This record gives sequence, structure tokens and C-alpha cells, in this order.
Amino acid sequence: MQATYSNARPFVSLVGAGPGDPDLLTMKAYRLIQSADVVVYDRLVSDEIMALVNPNAELLFVGKKLNHHCVPQDQINQILVNKALENKHVVRLKGGDPFIFGRGGEELETLVENNIGFEVVPGITAASGCSAYAGIPLTHRDHAQSVQFITGHLKKEGQDINWPSLAQANHTLVFYMGLKQAPVIRQNLADNGLSVNTPCAIVERGTTPQQRVLTGTLKELDSLATQAISPSLIIVGSVASLHEPLHWFKQS
Ligand code: SAH
Repeated sequence: MQATYSNARPFVSLVGAGPGDPDLLTMKAYRLIQSADVVVYDRLVSDEIMALVNPNAELLFVGKKLNHHCVPQDQINQILVNKALENKHVVRLKGGDPFIFGRGGEELETLVENNIGFEVVPGITAASGCSAYAGIPLTHRDHAQSVQFITGHLKKEGQDINWPSLAQANHTLVFYMGLKQAPVIRQNLADNGLSVNTPCAIVERGTTPQQRVLTGTLKELDSLATQAISPSLIIVGSVASLHEPLHWFKQS
């Protein structure tokens, strides 16, 4: 185990907190949140994980909700720079993995511009955590030979997505931030030839005691999405049918 932080140089640890269950933190993430001087964290970091943070650390919440930006991204970047320049060990704690739909790269670019040292600690991304706890293997020799992670936070009506490349059998699609766009997702996949009978699942608050898994087929995706709350992950593909035989995690 390598100690990366020394107070000789301003330094930020960009740390993935995983999808919610504190037992899914990496050893490194756990060690860093216990020793940090400052923790800058998001809405997706669970309360159970925040309870493990060094009680003497300064906590800065910069959480964001769709269409309701609490702290703009450039301000978050500046907070990281300012706190590091105070020679405090800053942990930037993000839900899941910081490099998967987490804007971790943008934050690091600002640190580079300001000559601040950093490290990146990967976390279990929602696709891995939610699929595991829902009993939905993302690949399976009989169902899917490939898997794709897609943001549902689309520009205009899904125009920035290559829908024909997504609408394939033997392929699993995992949509992050997709609840509001469920009708657009369903329509575009169906228009490009994916069967409306393709199984799909929505995993709500995955890996937490509040986890719920809603299952159906592509034609039912809109109504499933209206029953779910954020954060939720949408899984489309034949593998979703495996939830029924393979689910193991107790849901409330
Ligand atoms: N960096 C994160 C993703 C951030 S984008 C990661 O790697 O997981 C936020 C989206 O992630 C949410 O809208 C939701 O689609 C998904 N998500 C994150 N945590 C989740 C959870 N516990 N259950 C279901 N979906 C989750």
C-alpha cells in the first residue's frame, strides 16, 4: 500500500465511493476518507459512507440534482483548488466511479492547470453494483456478448446518441440518469429495430436497504420509469430476465 499524500505539496484525492453500500468502498477509499482534512462530496454519496469520514474533517456538500445545480461545476473546481492550496489534504468523494459520468476528468484538468497533485481511486460504478445486487449479470454467454454504458442525460431528444448501434440483440444497455428520458430511449430503440419485448429492469437506489428492482419489457419502460425515483439505473437486454431466478439481495 502506497502513501500518496504528503503535506509538502497541495494534493487532491479523487475518490469513488461506490453505489451506496459502505461495504463496497475500496480499502483505499476507506483509508483516505478517514484521514482527509477536507471532504468535498456529492448527493450520491450515502449517509452510511459519510458516517465513516474523519469526524474532524471539514465537510463541503456540492451535490447536484438534474435541472437544479446546487454548486456550478467551475465553482466546485475552484473549491478543490483553494482548499488544496491551503495545504489541506482534500478528498473529492463521488458516487460510483469518478471517471464514469462523474465529471472527474474535468476536475482533474483544473488541478493540472493549477499545478496541484492528485490521485484517482476507482469506485464500483452503479452499473456493476446495481446489476450485481439485482442478480442481473451484464454479460452472459446465452444472452449478451457486450455491454454499453450510456448517459440518459441527452441533449436534444437523444440526437447525440448513435441509436442504430445500440439497438442490437445479444447486447446489454445500461442507461445512467435515464428516468426522465425513458420514453425517448424506448422510442429510439424500437424505431431502430430492437424488439419491444426485450426484457428491461430499473434498479432504484441499488445496493442500499431501499433497493427496488422493477422489471418488464421495453414496451413498458415508460410506465416502469414513472414508478421509480432517482437514483435509478435502466438495464435493457435479455439479461434482465435473469433477475427473477438470480435475485438474492433482500429488497424492502
Ligand atoms: N459516477 C457514478 C454515476 C454518476 S451519474 C457511477 O459511477 O455510478 C448518476 C446516475 O448514476 C444516477 O442518475 C443513476 O442512474 C446512477 N446511479 C448512481 N448510484 C445509483 C444507485 N445506487 N442506484 C441506482 N442508480 C444509481
